[in-house]
Formats: sequence, C-alpha cells, structure tokens
Amino acid sequence: MTTHPRKGAGAGPANDRSLRILFVASECAPWVKTGGLADVVAALPPALVAAGLDVRVCLPFYRSLRPEVGEAPPVATVLGALVRKARLPSGIIAYLIDAPWLFGRDGGPYQDAEGRDWPDNAQRFGLFAHAAAVLASDETPLLWRPDIFHGHDWQAGLGPLWLKTGLPKPAPSVMTIHNLAFQGLFPPETAEALRLPPGVFAVEGAEFYGRLSFLKAGLHYADVLTTVSPTYAQEIQGEGQGCGLHGLLTRRRNDLTGIVNGIDDRVWDPATDPLIPARYDRDRLAGKAVNKEAVQRRFDLAADPGRPLFTMVGRLTWQKGVDLVAEVADRLVRAGGQLVVLGTGERGLEDGLRALAHRHRGAVSVRIGFDEALAHEMEAGADIFLMPSRFEPCGLNQMYSQRYGTPPVARATGGIADTVDGVGPGDCEGSGFLFDEATGQALWESIERALGAYRAPACWRRIMETGMRKDFSWAASAARYRALYHTLVREGEARAPA
Ligand code: ADP
Repeated sequence: MTTHPRKGAGAGPANDRSLRILFVASECAPWVKTGGLADVVAALPPALVAAGLDVRVCLPFYRSLRPEVGEAPPVATVLGALVRKARLPSGIIAYLIDAPWLFGRDGGPYQDAEGRDWPDNAQRFGLFAHAAAVLASDETPLLWRPDIFHGHDWQAGLGPLWLKTGLPKPAPSVMTIHNLAFQGLFPPETAEALRLPPGVFAVEGAEFYGRLSFLKAGLHYADVLTTVSPTYAQEIQGEGQGCGLHGLLTRRRNDLTGIVNGIDDRVWDPATDPLIPARYDRDRLAGKAVNKEAVQRRFDLAADPGRPLFTMVGRLTWQKGVDLVAEVADRLVRAGGQLVVLGTGERGLEDGLRALAHRHRGAVSVRIGFDEALAHEMEAGADIFLMPSRFEPCGLNQMYSQRYGTPPVARATGGIADTVDGVGPGDCEGSGFLFDEATGQALWESIERALGAYRAPACWRRIMETGMRKDFSWAASAARYRALYHTLVREGEARAPA
C-alpha cells in the first residue's frame, strides 16, 4: 500500500488533530434521496463529528440540488468539473462535483423521468468517483485533505481503484455496501472510454464476467470493506446473497465488517415529529390512536379503532416481498385487518396492489408515490408494520416502526435479524414478529401470531414498549466506524517508511 501522506514523526493525524473523512456518495437526505443510502449519508457524518471526527461529504451536483443548496461557491476545479462548497442542513460541509454535461438535467439521480437508466451513467459516476479520489490524493486542489476516502455503493466504486492505481499519495479507502444487488455493470469498452489505468480490467480487478463492475472495483481495491449489518456481512459471503461477489467477499472476510445503521432520531421520534397529527411517547400513548384514525380517514378506510391496521412503506420490488403481502392480503382482510401501502417500484407490483385495493375498498388502500410526510404518518398511525424482505442489508423501516410503537412483522434476514427481537409463540417478550421462509404462508403465520398478541392488550403494550425503548441512535455505530478509521490510519502509518 502507498504510504499515508500525513505521516509525521511519531505524531500522525490520529494523535494531533481530528481525523478527516471524506464521504463519497450519490445520495444524501434531504437533498437527494431514493432510499436508505441517503439517510445514512445524512445522519452518520454528524454522529461522527460528535465522536470527534472531521467529516465532509462529496456529492454530484444534480440540477435538482440547485434550489436546495443555496449559495454554493466554486472552490476548485477537478478533472474539468467545478467543486462547489455548500452546507447540509446538519451543518456538514458538502463538496459538490459540478459537471453540468453529466448532472445538469431534469430527472432522477440514476434515471430519467420515465424510469430509464441514464445512458451515460458510467461517465457520470466514473467522473464523480474519480474526482472524489483526486480530492483524497496529492493532486487535490483543496486545502482540506482527507485522511480517509469513504465510498458508498457502486457510484463511488471507482474511487478506490483510482486511489490504488492512478493517483499519488492516496488516502486509504473504505467501501461500504448498502445493497450488493446494485453493482454498476457496464460494457467492457467502458474501461477504455473512462481511461482507467492499464491492467485494472481483469478478474483480479474491476472485471465481472466480461463487464466492468464499479462495485467490484471498490470491493477489490478498497483497504477496508463494511456493510450495514453483521448478518448481511455473513449472508453476502454465501452464494445465495453474494450476487456473484461472494468469492471475493469470502477472500476478504477479514477486511469486512458489518456495522448496523442507526436512525436519525431528530427526524424519527414520535415525541417531537412535526409530520404526524398527534405526538406521543412510551408513557403517553394516547396520541397513537389519534394518528391511527387520521391514517384510516386519509386512506378512506373504516375509522374503526378496533381493527388492526397494517402498513408497508418502501420500494415496491421483489426484494421487499411485496408479492408476499399481496398473497396474504385477502386473508388479512378476512381476519378483520386493514392494510395501507405507500411506495413506488415495479409496474406489475404496483398494478397488483391497485387491484387489491379495488377489490377491498374500505379495507385496503394503496398510494403509489414517494411521500416522506405520509411515511411518518403511517409509521405513527399503524398498529403493525409489514416488512417481508427477501433480503435486507440493514433496513430502516423496521427500526422506525419499533420506535413508533408499531411492531414489525418481518423476515429474519440481514439487518432485520440484527435489530428486531423476535417474539416467541404465545409470548410477549420481544419487539416484533420474525419468520424465516420467504413464502406467503410463513408471512401469514407470523401475522397470525401478531394478531394473537394484538388482541391481548397488556401483551401488545409490552411488545410496543420493548420496541420503543430500544436504542437505535447513531452514536454506537459511529463509535465503531471511528475505531475502524483509526485502525486503518494507524496501519498506514506503521507501514510508512521512516
Ligand atoms: P432501501 O434503502 O432498500 O430502499 P430502507 O428501509 O433502508 O430501504 O430505507 C428506505 C427509506 O426510504 C426509508 O426512510 C423509507 O421510509 C423511505 N421510503 C421508501 N419508499 C418511500 C416512499 N414511497 N415514500 C416515502 N418514503 C419512502
């Protein structure tokens, strides 16, 4: 490994000042968000700052950011792009890579308004990651120079590659996998088009079965790998969940750590949440009933306090087990339940849910769309949250729902297994209802167990309270990242020549 640039005589950055970490990601709430990645990139840096680190975030300057960021003066140029400096609402400094020919367009971060991937995504995130890597090397035009490049998901994947093979005095790098299923795969000629250093398009490099994989590049070249829960860190080393990268991940298992995400408890706290009709907490639960009625009315359901209200919020995809929910919905309604779903995703699943709502007017309701405020209302108003994910690297909604006194019925996979304490049959100990098989029948049996507990108010209250008491704050996770950064920098210093 190349030596660390900041090595001093016996006093590296770990000793004489805060470690500087550059987060490199394609999303950050509230500016740009399609999923949990944005929440993590928004919430983890302030938690790391509270733990004594100096953290900044590097993002593409999408056109949609312009009205959000306020004044963002250019502070440098890198690879022909401007680097603008802005502040996130949390106070964290953001470097925005302003390449208007790549990011100055309407539409989403990865897709156009019709949901088609931008045809130049390789160029877009190729340049983005390369520019961010430059900022973490001797070629940086900035005075603030990071001790560690921390990339997130495939969009940042080429960063570690450039740091290891094409830049002078690179910072060591960390790659975090938020979802291994998204890999950033491109045709082989992309390697040349992006002018990647010679030799990197190889099995021992960034090649994945004849294609260029941005994620594999990150996982191959980064010094340390993390993912967002200990269970997922294990699962992705197996063929079932390894998405073809299990061999590499197994080989690198000693460099791979699972650190569970926290939740932003300034945003997700039923005691202070401005987005819900009535605030409540563990000792004053009355507000929850008000929120339930509000959801029932908003979704045109019978406003009956006694009917168990189930909810689901998220991407409507195979991953999230939406088809399993559709499979059990008739039984759920027959059992007296109500169901509301909020999400966007695969057309077939959206249509299936619409048909379901049509068939069960007054008991099932579906809102296709992305609506942050409604997500809060639903977490607050529902009795039971459904999350039958086929895989779930960490998952945030199961944590939000426990926090909001809405016990989840969820599949015991990835971060769900690490953050929900399963209630045993006939028991009231635990914070949710877990099942193993990804089948409608297994989901249904778990729902039945939840309904049994729901009909025993003292038991239900105990399960709600157990979930509401759990600590999902970022502080514990931040402490683990901090330890990992310090180890990485110390190892770099130890390897550096005197
Ligand atoms: P993933 O990152 O796989 O999509 P997570 O559970 O980790 O799943 O995070 C999803 C985040 O996005 C949560 O904050 C969730 O509330 C939010 N979310 C997903 N879909 C919607 C939607 N349609 N409306 C509002 N919020 C949504």
